Amino acid sequence: MKLAVYGKGGIGKSTTSCNISIALAKRGKKVLQIGCDPKHDSTFTLTGFLIPTIIDTLSAKDYHYEDIWPEDVIYGGYGGVDCVEAGGPPAGAGCGGYVVGETVKLLKELNAFFEYDIILFDVLGDVVCGGFAAPLNYADYCIIVTDNGFDALFAANRIAASVREKARTHPLRLAGLIGNRTSKRDLIDKYVYACPMPVLEVLPLIEEIRISRVKGKTLFEIDDFTKTQNDMLTSSVVSNNLNNTTVEGLKPQEGWNLDIKQNNNYICNYYLNIADQLLTQPEGVIPRELSDKELFTLLSDFYLTVKA
Ligand code: ADP
Ligand code: MG
Repeated sequence: MKLAVYGKGGIGKSTTSCNISIALAKRGKKVLQIGCDPKHDSTFTLTGFLIPTIIDTLSAKDYHYEDIWPEDVIYGGYGGVDCVEAGGPPAGAGCGGYVVGETVKLLKELNAFFEYDIILFDVLGDVVCGGFAAPLNYADYCIIVTDNGFDALFAANRIAASVREKARTHPLRLAGLIGNRTSKRDLIDKYVYACPMPVLEVLPLIEEIRISRVKGKTLFEIDDFTKTQNDMLTSSVVSNNLNNTTVEGLKPQEGWNLDIKQNNNYICNYYLNIADQLLTQPEGVIPRELSDKELFTLLSDFYLTVKA
């Protein structure tokens, strides 16, 4: 199954992508995440560092595909998720679609493209020009990340239009929206009422997610680490009680600065829930996007109603 995650810049696509990738891997799937944003930090919280991009590797080898090995461009990430960063075209020149095309071409040459149960493209989607819509050519499902604000919903509507366009030529569906970093969903609900599509999940602003980005870890890694520490602490307490000795407190790894008693389970469950919905291969929709005028009217009228 191929997934393409889209949404306005900074909305939480990479955060969502990394955690969904691990959730899918936890469900036993072999997963490859491909970052398709020139920012090339899509897989940062999976690997803990900025991996070399396909475009950099290709240009270092003068575009001699035969000189490139899988380990040059595919890096193992947390939870067994494999990671690739496509990279970007030179700023102000070139085309993102070309970069995605070269990435897929190379992965096919390396016999890697058909090796995975799931390939997830994490795509810059603020302005969906033909180039940045390229991953939709390979995807079975598009997923849109949005918040409860006008700008992200405007971007979502443009992405919905791209899905409708691409679905004319291949079996692409919109799996649905993921609301992120928002405690309210009134505008999201208003939008999906006018332009019907599923809402897979809505996540609030969660401080632990912001911290996890800074620490270069996914929520799952932090949660697994926390559980291990708590288990060790518990067994240490039990055995020390039995031996009647003093407990030397176990400390989390230096720099993590997280309370080891804290439980991120509930946050991981959001992503496991999304993964489980995707694994049922949902029907999804071919959306009928709103015109810009309809969208402005819909959301502005709403603002007026709220003010009145
Ligand atoms: P994008 O890939 O869309 O550009 P990122 O996934 O890099 O966005 O997220 C941008 C920032 O927002 C990151 O610092 C990330 O940790 C933070 N973030 C994302 N989702 C949440 C959330 N639900 N709660 C708090 N912070 C979040
Ligand atoms: Mg990103």
